[in-house]
Amino acid sequence: MGYRHTPEAYLIDMDGVVYTGNRLMPGAGEFIFYLQEKEIPFLFLTNNASKTPEEYRARLASLGIHVSTDRIYTSALATTRYMSERWPKGTPVYVIGISGIRQALSESGFRILRNHKRAQAVVVGYDPHITYARLREATLAIYHGAAFIGTNPDVSLPTEDGIYPGNGAFLAALEAATGVSPTIIGKPSPTIFLEALDRLGTAPEKTAMIGDRVETDIVGAQNTGLLSVFLTGGVSGEEGLKQLDTPPDFVFRYLGDLLRWLKTFQKD
Ligand SMILES: [Mg+2]
Repeated sequence: MGYRHTPEAYLIDMDGVVYTGNRLMPGAGEFIFYLQEKEIPFLFLTNNASKTPEEYRARLASLGIHVSTDRIYTSALATTRYMSERWPKGTPVYVIGISGIRQALSESGFRILRNHKRAQAVVVGYDPHITYARLREATLAIYHGAAFIGTNPDVSLPTEDGIYPGNGAFLAALEAATGVSPTIIGKPSPTIFLEALDRLGTAPEKTAMIGDRVETDIVGAQNTGLLSVFLTGGVSGEEGLKQLDTPPDFVFRYLGDLLRWLKTFQKD
């Protein structure tokens, strides 16, 4: 720690930071309210490409956090923006994924195909209805030369039962079948961080990523030159610190602890 200045803007992971399941994390509501009151720029940044910003807005509202959809930046939006810079409107794509990525791609003018034929790109996001047929069509498209893009690399999803396969597990299956590695957009790839910074209009060295998963949130922030705030009250826990070559800039248990620290700098 030992920083003379507090961060000027924040990128905030949601699952394990703001809430877990249907439970708000300690101090999360108060922290967001503080940012709003002080007009400190922030974006919620999630690797989950399955939900739309509107679905996230409604979920946060149900927990008492009221923000507009433009405060929510998902790997689906980042993927669509990345693709829009490389392919023209109307480009046919094959998609594994649900509403988050499908809506983002179609709103940006991409044509979502029902099978692999003519696909210029294959986009893979978390899809709880994934089938052999979808994996087969994606494999065929990549085999025939389509670009292979993964919204996020998370291999597992923690649940009350244990872990479920995440999008990274689907990407691994397609990589094994085709021998092609995907281009990853979500955390820890710098792509999503740079796009989020561009949206906020802030400098990386003055912007902090707040996250609970070291291999995506913290490693990604470090690779992109952002400040990092690691919360030990989430998925990685205290053990997460041992996985890092470089320690995070700040370590707290919950957002409430970060807020208490920030308030010590307040003059009024
Ligand atoms: Mg998280």
